[in-house]
Amino acid sequence: MIYDFKDGLEYAKSLDKHDKLSHLRQRFYVNEDEIYMDGNSLGLSSRDAEDALDKMFQVWKKEAIRIWGADEGQYFNYSKKLAKKFKNLINADDEEIIFMGSITTNIHQALSTFYKPTNERYKIIVDELNFPSDIYATKSIIELKGYKVEDALIEINSRDGRTIQEEDIIAEMKDDVALILLPSVLYRSSQLLDMKKVTREAHERGILIGWDLAHSIGSVPHDFKGIDPDFAVWCTYKYLNGGPGATAGMYINKKHFGKSAGLKGWFGSKDESQFLMSHEFDQDRDANGWLLGTHNLFSMAPIDGSLDIFNEAGIKSIREKSLHITAYLMYLIDNKLTKYGYSVGNPREDSRRGGHVALEHEEAYRISLALRDNKVIPDYREPNVIRLAPIALYNTYEEVFILVGILENIVNNKEYEKYSLERVTVL
Ligand SMILES: *Cc1c(COP(=O)(O)O)cnc(C)c1O
Repeated sequence: MIYDFKDGLEYAKSLDKHDKLSHLRQRFYVNEDEIYMDGNSLGLSSRDAEDALDKMFQVWKKEAIRIWGADEGQYFNYSKKLAKKFKNLINADDEEIIFMGSITTNIHQALSTFYKPTNERYKIIVDELNFPSDIYATKSIIELKGYKVEDALIEINSRDGRTIQEEDIIAEMKDDVALILLPSVLYRSSQLLDMKKVTREAHERGILIGWDLAHSIGSVPHDFKGIDPDFAVWCTYKYLNGGPGATAGMYINKKHFGKSAGLKGWFGSKDESQFLMSHEFDQDRDANGWLLGTHNLFSMAPIDGSLDIFNEAGIKSIREKSLHITAYLMYLIDNKLTKYGYSVGNPREDSRRGGHVALEHEEAYRISLALRDNKVIPDYREPNVIRLAPIALYNTYEEVFILVGILENIVNNKEYEKYSLERVTVL
């Protein structure tokens, strides 16, 4: 889409006035003294999340062990409750969705279920730009099955160090490939892959494929009925604002119901047999058969609250604003910051980008430190990327405008030069 923006603070304020989601900012705990641009790493807390967590504590306090039967058993079935609230974000059936663990554990669960190597078909395709934990999990399952990583793992190379070409992935889909694991949105460059096309090409060759939605969920709508992937995983603490370490999610396509879960645990039992305490596992009929242990209710309650905001706003409106506000940020970068050595490192087309802008600068590291001292919270990714995520639910156009002024000053006044180049872990 072609956007038509103008420079100036008054114009930014007028965009806020016309923002249909602006009323939702007050539901979040926004620190008005700073500009939070890191909702892609850890989303802000909300009153909705807080209320749900408080309520959970009260139920525990009052009911003790009876919590599992309280309120029509919704806590015993809490993953199912969250699945119902969540399903519109990926357009899937709630029976295909579960909440447990972290992305990493859920990749282990998915791969141990779907990676069934044979001597003819045993390779797994990943990409060289993916997040390390996804790769560690993939390598470990290859080793557990008795194959050699050097032989069985295919890492798709990037041509430009930022993005992955769909045709390069497809070119590697040979007869010896068993499975593919890819991110929907690349965590550094914000590239959104053509999930539908890549999934279709994989299936035409008899290859199973799963997606890691870490950097798209809650920001980009997904149509899983159209894409039809075999499985997917996501976390809930980034765009979904579920809180640090909140319980992750997993999707298992219903065509795989009835397959034996790679990892088994008693919460994966059918409801009617879970408490029979038999040593014969009686796996549940749908995705719930892939659950493992007792629901971590306090890491799930904030998601319950937070999802209400998503359903109220609607994921389509969220995506619309996200595309618009990130396009506005790119417009300001192009017009005001390129002369200071800044550039946009993410793809430009709406269909090829996620919810953050990858701002590149050779001094990105020291600039990111200076931003913090200017009360802007960005995040930095080696070697030269500052990720800036104006979040549809709580950031304003005015904040984006002010942010760009700060970025300009930091380089124009050489503010970054007072920081050491030596890397310290910034938490
Ligand atoms: C954030 C992120 C993770 C984190 O995994 P956890 O196990 O939930 O800590 C994994 N993969 C990707 C692509 C991520 O962006």
